[in-house]
Parts: sequence; structure tokens; C-alpha cells
Amino acid sequence: MNQAAAVGGSEAEAELQPEPEPEPLLSSAPPAVAKEEQKWPGSASVPASGAKEKTTSTVPLLPPPPGLPLAARRALASLSEEASKLRRSRRSEEGKPGRHGRQKKTKRVVTVDTSKAKTSSEALKICIQQLKWKEFPTGRRHLCDIYWHGSSFHDGEVSSSGQVNKYPGMTELVRKINFSRAVRTMQELFPEEYKFYPRSWILPEEYQTFADQVRVSKENDSSWKPTFIVKPDGGSQGDGIYLIKDSNDVRMLANLHSKPAVVQEYISKPLLIDKLKFDIRLYVLLKSLDPLEIYIAKDGLSRFCTEPYQEPNSKNFHRVFMHLTNYSLNVHSGNFIHSDSVNTGSKRTFSSIVTKLSMRGYDVKKMWSDIITLVIRAIIALVPELKIYHQTYIPPGKPGPTCFQILGFDILLMKNMKPVLLEVNANPSMRIEHEQEISPGLFEYVASPVDEEIKVAIIRDTLCLVDPALKKNNRHQSCLTDVAADSDKEKTTEAELHDMNGTPSSKEQNLSSLCLKQVFPKYSRQFSYLLIVDRIALLFIRFLGIKGSMKLGPTGFRTFIRTCKLSNSNLSMASVDILYIDIARRWNVIRGDRGESGMCFQAFMEAIFHLAQRRYKTPPLREQVEALVNFCDYQLEVQEDKHILYGRGTTDQRLSLTMYQPEGSRSGATNHMHLLNRMSMSNRLPASSLPASADQQLVNSMSSRVTDCSPAASFSPNGWDNLGCRFCRNANQSCSVIGLSDVRSQRLKLTQILRPSVTSYFM
Ligand code: ADP
Repeated sequence: MNQAAAVGGSEAEAELQPEPEPEPLLSSAPPAVAKEEQKWPGSASVPASGAKEKTTSTVPLLPPPPGLPLAARRALASLSEEASKLRRSRRSEEGKPGRHGRQKKTKRVVTVDTSKAKTSSEALKICIQQLKWKEFPTGRRHLCDIYWHGSSFHDGEVSSSGQVNKYPGMTELVRKINFSRAVRTMQELFPEEYKFYPRSWILPEEYQTFADQVRVSKENDSSWKPTFIVKPDGGSQGDGIYLIKDSNDVRMLANLHSKPAVVQEYISKPLLIDKLKFDIRLYVLLKSLDPLEIYIAKDGLSRFCTEPYQEPNSKNFHRVFMHLTNYSLNVHSGNFIHSDSVNTGSKRTFSSIVTKLSMRGYDVKKMWSDIITLVIRAIIALVPELKIYHQTYIPPGKPGPTCFQILGFDILLMKNMKPVLLEVNANPSMRIEHEQEISPGLFEYVASPVDEEIKVAIIRDTLCLVDPALKKNNRHQSCLTDVAADSDKEKTTEAELHDMNGTPSSKEQNLSSLCLKQVFPKYSRQFSYLLIVDRIALLFIRFLGIKGSMKLGPTGFRTFIRTCKLSNSNLSMASVDILYIDIARRWNVIRGDRGESGMCFQAFMEAIFHLAQRRYKTPPLREQVEALVNFCDYQLEVQEDKHILYGRGTTDQRLSLTMYQPEGSRSGATNHMHLLNRMSMSNRLPASSLPASADQQLVNSMSSRVTDCSPAASFSPNGWDNLGCRFCRNANQSCSVIGLSDVRSQRLKLTQILRPSVTSYFM
């Protein structure tokens, strides 16, 4: 049966290349490929004319009879040549082995459901046509490869497979209050790294802190004359935003309880171009959450105010066209300039600004480096909670789609060229037309070349990056093969981080049309130390228990404390229960979840901070939290080891493997075997001839285990170095992190587990 018909009528027929058919040598019916080609103009070079088909079907395959006139012989020869050309071309199209047995795979057409794409539809349509993929603008009965949602993950029914351009929870997480909280958590742990986000307070709950901190700062520095910007939670397009000078501002006080909001330090000295304030809309693709994969678009938009900028004072506070860069506001100003050129007007490409700044002598490479750093750090702040949403809506092991998402970063450049993050948009506008008033009160949509240039490229590259062909490892079939390979291989250097706008690499020159550039994991090494909250989220998820819940119950919290051995003489289980009730209840009030009990992730974070501070008194918060998380992970690993030791493990070989499986390769069975071979080989060989790689592997895995108690300690072939904990700094006394006795027992355990020759080599 024809594959297309089997899949479901004409619609499937149009999108699927047929399975290879028997040799079409003398068939009189037009082959399916030819039919396809008529429907997909330009996608291949197979002739589609019926006349030619007829001709080929009557071509004799035997040599011409002798004695035929020369003209007739020539005519027959040329017909025969045509026929073999056609056969060759069909073979290659249908994936049939050619004369030499080579087989070319059929490329399946990628299907995209755009029925929920809303204002992105126009840009998407262009991209899908460019890629020669198949669009389903009104949806499809059968599953599609990609679903494009206009607003959120939950736009309509969520597919059980394929890919969706939204993550569950992203819309909620980037709301002003939630985002400020996520960044605040990171600011508490890494104050220097998260300075790119202005100091913010959440209203009404932090009103008093806001008032107190401002008062104290003013007392300490009388020259400090700050302005604050109040932004209602969930607002967009500048809606409801206003400036204030003082925490006693009447308008803010009036709104305090009716409208939850963020009050933020106002950046009063932005970089100006042509005396106008402007911001940058940068597009970022979060391609994958686990492992984290981030791409940044090389170009974005710059949106200009329409009134010359003055530093804020009570006389100009209300002038939105001077202070707010939102397109949706400024487009209503009489000064707004719609331009067909990308480097003039009130909306321009960011690259045109970069060129301008570079010509004025600004260090644009440094600026790009700062912007990339800002984006990666901001996403690292969002990812932990995003993972919690993800596992709730798409539990591991259950059918569900893969997600990716284009985010819009709104960035302001300060006078000193430092980028400041204003907000992250989960649903940046992908519209490529703008409204134009053709006569008073009468509007119509007209094409916007600036939007089209930027947005079409971003959507097209995004589609290419999520091309299912990439997933199936048919890398040669994907439109971005080279980029993926390129980014995998590239090394991380500070210079490269600077080079977003610099000279393209030779590979990039070949791919000049690509606008998305991978920044993570490419630059992951510089940022991995920030992933501590991510590890806390994994602990949270581990103890969540009931699938579908985003809150930790009291039993889950108790189990967490018990399993990680956090209760001791200083922290009884009774005080653990009190801690749980206290923190969980307060957070439920803050978030307005009065009816819903349980501990949300933010509350869990607070509990972790509390436990860390209680346990490790002196070091800075970040080190306290790191030590606690290391300790918890260590305890969980010990539990797992025990499970294998006493549960599933039967031979001492397995014991060895459990101990020596290196970090990051715990699930790799091949690694198990590799190590097993190394270990058994080392039993027969004298210690000195142990292969260097095995030596390194064992040392690495041992070091990774002892960092749990002592980041300063390392395990070397000569034995344990600097065994003392870096907090108590004393190897001879009980370590306050896990206790020296624990370290000793760990060492003992190793001695027992390792076979004699290996043990003697390392001990
Ligand atoms: P919305 O989602 O309503 O657009 P934003 O946070 O993006 O809210 O703020 C709107 C505009 O206000 C920004 O585009 C920017 O021009 C200005 N703005 C916001 N925050 C600040 C700030 N802290 N300092 C200076 N200007 C700001």
C-alpha cells in the first residue's frame, strides 16, 4: 500500500516522501515522487511533466535492431539516455541503491502546527517556506513535529510528542515579582555576579525593607538622590509604570495593597544616541533545559524614546516618551519615525547601534562579552524553578513534548556601557508588520522591514536547531549541521566571549546567514560554579514525592532531613517540623496560596539557607550553602552506594565500580565496563605500571568524593593530601562538615573495597 495513503489521505501524501518502490522501469503510472515534486516546487530536480513520464514508459531497453536508419538510431539513443537519467534521478530521490549499491536516505518533510502561533504566524510562514517544510495553519489530525504556541505552553492541548516552543512555567517565572525573587536569590549567593539587575523590592511585602534601606543609604550618603520605578506585577508594554523619588510617594502608597508590584532603582544615566534613551531587545533561545543549551541572536532591536532625555526630576516624571522605551507607547508619539532603513528611525537593528558605537570608539567587544555574561547568568537564575515546572508537567518517563523557547531580553546600556537587565519576556513579539494610520482613526498593518530582518532570521535558525533530523542523529540532513558541530568543538576562552561581534571564524563565514550563536555550554566552564541553586532544585525534586505536585509536603521535608542526615544534637526533628511549618506557611501567605499547603521551592531555598547558616557558622553564605549541598549529595551518594552494596551488588567488582564511577558518568554502563577492565588489569600489574589514564580516572573520582567534606582536600596516588576541612582547617580534629571520623570510615571502606594491589597503590 502506498505509504502516504496509509498515513492518512491527501494531507499525509503531501508531507511524506514515499517509501522506495519497485524499479519504475516500464511502469506506465506516474511515480509517487513525481507527484510529490509537483506539490513541492523547487525541492528537487525530478521532472514532473506527464509527457516525459509517458516517453520514458515506452522507451525500449533493448539495443536498437540492426539496419535501422542513422536518424532513427540517434533518436532512440537519446531517448534511451533520457530514460536512464530519469531512472538515476528517481533512484536518488527514492533512496534506492544505485548501480553501485549506494543508498541515499529519503528526507522526511518536517511538519509544523502553527494554528496557535497568533502574531508570529507571518514570520513563521516565511521561515517554513524557506526551509521547504510543511505548515499546518489550522492544526492537524495527526501529530506534527513542531508546535508553535503564541502565548504559553498551555495554549490549547499539549501534544504527547514532538517539540513545543514554550516551557511550562516560563510565563509565570518571568513575571516581574517572580523574576526579581529568582535574581534576588542569586544576588544573595553571588552579589558581584548579579549586579546587572537593579536593586528591587517586592511590594507590598517588602515595603518596610525598601523604606528602611533607602533611608539608611541616604543617611550614609547625602549626595545620593535616587529615583525609583514602580512596575506592576504582570504588567507589560509600560502599562501602569511610574517613577517616584521617595518611599512615601502617595501613588505608591495608594496602590500598595491593591496592586502587587516591583519597585526598582531607576537607571538615571543611560547611554544616549541622538540625545534619546534607547533599550535593546535581544533574542535568546533556550534550546534545552537539561543539559542547558543557550543561543543568543547576533542581532536584535533597539527601541528609541521619542523625546530627548533628561535626568529624572519631579517635573518630567510623567513624560513617558522621555523615560520609557516601549515601542507600544512611543509609536503613539507624533515624533515616532517609521523607517524602512534598519539604521534610522525609532526602531533600528542593534547591529546598526553597535556599528555607530564602534565608530565613536566604544569598546563594543567588551559590551558584547558583558551582555553574553548577563544572559547566561539570568538564565541560570531561572533554570532551577523551570526544572521543577518541567518535571511537574512533563514527568520523566511519561510521554510529552520536548520544549524550547525564544526569550526576549530587555537590556539598557548605562553611560559607562555596562548592560543592565530590565526584564525577560517569555513571549516576545514576533510580529513583522506594524500598524499604520492611513487616515484619522483608520489603521492597517504594513510590513516592517526592520522587524522582518531580525525576527525571520531568529525563527528560521530556531527551527533549524530543533530540526528533528538533528535529534535522530541524521546530522547531515539538518540545516544547521555545521553550527552544531562547530559549537561542540569550540574551546572556551575569554577572547571568544568578546568576539560576538568580532571577526567571524572561517566556519561562521560559510554560514553567514546564521544569527543564533551558542553561548552555553560553549562558555559553561566560566559559569558552572553558579549552578548551586540548580543542585538545590534537584534535591527538592528528589523529595517532592507525589508526581504532579510543586510543593514539598511535611513528610517529604522530614525524609530529606533524615536521608541527608541533617538532624543532630543541634537540630532535633521537632525543630525541623517547626522550621517547616514556619517557612512554608509564610511563603504561602506571601504568594497568596492560602488554600494550598506545602513548601514551595522559594520556601525550600529559605530553609536550605537557614540550615546552612546554622550548621556552618563563619564562612560567607555561598560557602555555607555549597558545603550543605555537597554534604547532602554526599549522603545521598552513600545511600546509593549502600543500596548497591547491600541490595543489588553481588560481587566485589561491583563494589569497586560503584566507588569509582567518575562524576558525570554514573549511568554509563560502558564506563562501568571500562573501569572494571582497568581495575582487573591493575590487579595483575605492579602499581608502577598502572596505565596513566586509569590512575587519573581513579584519582579524579576519589577527589570528587572527598570534596564533599573538604574542598581543599585532594586524593593523590601518594595518599590523602590536606585532609582537613577547609572550614575547621584541622585534619586532626573532628571536621564540622562531615567529621573526620566519617572521612576515616570512608577511607576504611575504600581500603576494604579495593583489591589489594589497587589499594596498596593508592593508600
Ligand atoms: P514592561 O514589561 O511594562 O515593558 P519594563 O520593565 O520593560 O516593563 O519597563 C518598561 C520600560 O521602562 C523599559 O523599556 C525602560 O525603558 C524603562 N525602565 C524599566 N526599568 C527601568 C530602570 N530600572 N531604569 C531605567 N529605565 C527603566
